[in-house]
Amino acid sequence: MEKRIEDICSSIPLDRMNYRPVAPEIVMTSSFHFSDFAEYAAASKNQFKDFVYTRGSNPTTLLLEEKLAELECGERCKVFASGMGAISAALVSCLKQGDHVLFVNTVYSTTLSFIKFMTRYGITWTVVNTTDVTEVANALKTQTKIIYFESPSTQKFELIDLDQVACLAQSNDILTIMDNTWATPVFQNPLNYGIDLVIHSCSKYIGGHSDIVCGAVIGSQRLIEQIERSGFLYMGATCSPMNSFLALRGLRTLPIRMQSQQENALEIVTSLQADPRIEKIFHPYCADNTQKQLSQTYLRGYSSLFAFQMLSKELTRFERFINELNEFILGVSWGGYESMILPVYKGNNQQELKTRGLDVTHTRMYVGLSHPKTLIRAIQNALDAAYGICK
Ligand SMILES: *Cc1c(COP(=O)(O)O)cnc(C)c1O
Repeated sequence: MEKRIEDICSSIPLDRMNYRPVAPEIVMTSSFHFSDFAEYAAASKNQFKDFVYTRGSNPTTLLLEEKLAELECGERCKVFASGMGAISAALVSCLKQGDHVLFVNTVYSTTLSFIKFMTRYGITWTVVNTTDVTEVANALKTQTKIIYFESPSTQKFELIDLDQVACLAQSNDILTIMDNTWATPVFQNPLNYGIDLVIHSCSKYIGGHSDIVCGAVIGSQRLIEQIERSGFLYMGATCSPMNSFLALRGLRTLPIRMQSQQENALEIVTSLQADPRIEKIFHPYCADNTQKQLSQTYLRGYSSLFAFQMLSKELTRFERFINELNEFILGVSWGGYESMILPVYKGNNQQELKTRGLDVTHTRMYVGLSHPKTLIRAIQNALDAAYGICK
């Protein structure tokens, strides 16, 4: 009997082979089908546990969630289509009209833009630019519901005492959310110090190859369920099973990449420290004693994203430095193979930089997987071309 073309195009996989793939399966499907009414009815009652529709759950994404939860020492994880998907869902799910969010230290700029947007829904917020927990305590309001921070922080890479923040928050019935993208679960586990929720942009080190955008939130069963049932389900920032697979693949090499990139970065930081044309380096490795102590308490390693500022503030020279810097790609994001450079100066934003407390020559550098000697030579050449050879 001849088959109809529609039947051939319909490609529901057959259960015909017993196979055991070494790599995780990419379950690239929008929905899941049921063998009979009873199975359908049971799954519909339990849509967060059983596989019904990929916007709710998917086996490839679930495997990633289980691994991230375990790596962060959390009960559960929810994976999102991006870091911002995770951040906005966590904030929306834990806030209501009238609540206040306290941001500590320098936080990823889009996170701050998001909360500014939320003022139209009756959320208020404050930023305290400090790593001193006493100042954090002084900035609390009666309506404060969340303390949100990064440690080390964006651009300045300063740490805060996690034990102290968690203790302060718990005694005031406040939730703590920490973005741990810089350290990854390999180098730091904030939940172990009493932080309530940990955020990751898996677009960075976890993905590791500059080819996906993905995010995650990890915490207790109760909090993740709360996020799953509101911010996750309603805002719909679902990660594609393909991207979950790529993040799972990234995890396989995460520990060795972090180790190798730490070594490369510290070699480069050390050479920059010795260079008189560099005024200041922002990396916990070369911070003051208090910061160094916090690193020793909370970090198991140093990652390869940091910043520095030039001694000379001449912008034509600075632009020349950026243009002459071979081996580093000029662009946003980080965490992949290629080394990257990102000046905060964009040609006309001196005023904005002043309010953010950043020098006009503040430059973020990401050390990827190239040989550190090659990178050091490239930096020296660019510094020589822009600022002159130093004796
Ligand atoms: C990149 C980044 C984010 C946002 O993640 P996306 O995946 O780009 O949405 C949030 N926090 C930090 C610290 C980041 O570096």
